[in-house]
Amino acid sequence: RLYLDRIRQHRDGLNAVITVTEEQALAQAAEADARIAAGTAGPLTGIPLLHKDLFCTDGVRTSCGSRMLDNFVAPYDATVVERLRDAGMVMLGKANMDEFAMGSSNENSHYGPARNPWDTDRIPGGSSGGSAAAVAARLAPAATGTDTGGSIRQPASMCGVTGIKPTYGRVSRWGMVAFASSLDQAGPFAATAEDCALLLGAMAGFDPRDSTCIDRPVPDYAAGLDADLAGLRIGLPKEYFGEGLDTGVAAAIEAAVEVFRGLGAEVREVSLPNTHLAVPAYYVVAPAECSSNLSRFDGVRFGHRCENPKDLTDLYERSRGEGFGDEVKRRIMVGTYALSAGYYDAYYLKAQKVRRLISEDYRRAFESVDLILGPTSPSTAFRIGEKVDDPVSMYLSDIYTIAVNLAGLPGMSVPAGFADGLPVGLQIVGNYFEEGRMLNAAHRFQ
Ligand code: GLN
Repeated sequence: RLYLDRIRQHRDGLNAVITVTEEQALAQAAEADARIAAGTAGPLTGIPLLHKDLFCTDGVRTSCGSRMLDNFVAPYDATVVERLRDAGMVMLGKANMDEFAMGSSNENSHYGPARNPWDTDRIPGGSSGGSAAAVAARLAPAATGTDTGGSIRQPASMCGVTGIKPTYGRVSRWGMVAFASSLDQAGPFAATAEDCALLLGAMAGFDPRDSTCIDRPVPDYAAGLDADLAGLRIGLPKEYFGEGLDTGVAAAIEAAVEVFRGLGAEVREVSLPNTHLAVPAYYVVAPAECSSNLSRFDGVRFGHRCENPKDLTDLYERSRGEGFGDEVKRRIMVGTYALSAGYYDAYYLKAQKVRRLISEDYRRAFESVDLILGPTSPSTAFRIGEKVDDPVSMYLSDIYTIAVNLAGLPGMSVPAGFADGLPVGLQIVGNYFEEGRMLNAAHRFQ
């Protein structure tokens, strides 16, 4: 009830939540009480949370931040929703997001931008902006998000909370509205790494309904949190500390690195020479995949349908024209162009080759270090409206996060102080399935 009250109180001020599921939440809380009384509760039983509004929820609207799905109610729960529910968590509602998870500021939401609780004239980051803002403002102790090119880590950084994007395949994508299927991965937001460890443990694991989900045991992430960091080898990519990095952010990250040195870690420089190719490669691969994934929204089977279509073509054109916002249309156009005959080799195939080079950069770096540290984002939260007319400058705010998705590696953002009164996030990147080591480092740091 406390969290439901806070959500109501900040509904207009933060716009972090699209749908509140009050009745269900109270019913689920009562069930949690019963489990606690029966002695069958786990560590997450009764803990409230918000789901990013792209996880399908049985009987509750899943809008994906789009007019297209404004009326869409899924007949089933996503695996992530089901697993957290089985752990006894209580869903408070669905969090605001950029339309179809395309964006870095939450300004592309059909429901209007969510706002940063540290300064409500500023963006909370995106695309999981509502989830991050809600956890930062204590509208919920936890939230889910998805990260295709930074959408958990960047908003976590901007809002001063902890968020983790697991290794690709660690968490099932079943029941998530797909953006770019080879990059999408779900993960949790919470105040601390400790909370994220519990949440990730409950979310992760094999699911036969997602063919890219990996069958590998889920470690007890919470058990390893206190391990000593003496001798931990930390790499700082020299490409992450150059031009474009805000000086206040750089200072906060340098101070964080000193904390790790104090905890006994060995810090060295590494190189990820293809870093500058990550944003261009991503903006071919992600739009290509999205143009294919979003073709299912045709006005026939899902979501918005235009009034009185003349014929089938008119139905497709107007339903899609009315249902999708500008950024989504831009991505579909870029994607279909990159995949079309005569351009496929020049763009899509080339981007896939660059993707391999980027993975190789990390593989080489992880031969000599255990974790890679750096800033999550080059700047702190910018003002609402500041970058809306300049997509390229918006895309560049994901420069440190996107390569991690292209390589399929796990990454997280941890609060690391402030620059000019706004939160700064430290990014920790691990080798494949090293979420435990990352959470351990983040926990000791916190
Ligand atoms: N900002 C990036 C984009 O717009 C990443 C989004 C995401 O991770 N879902 O595509």
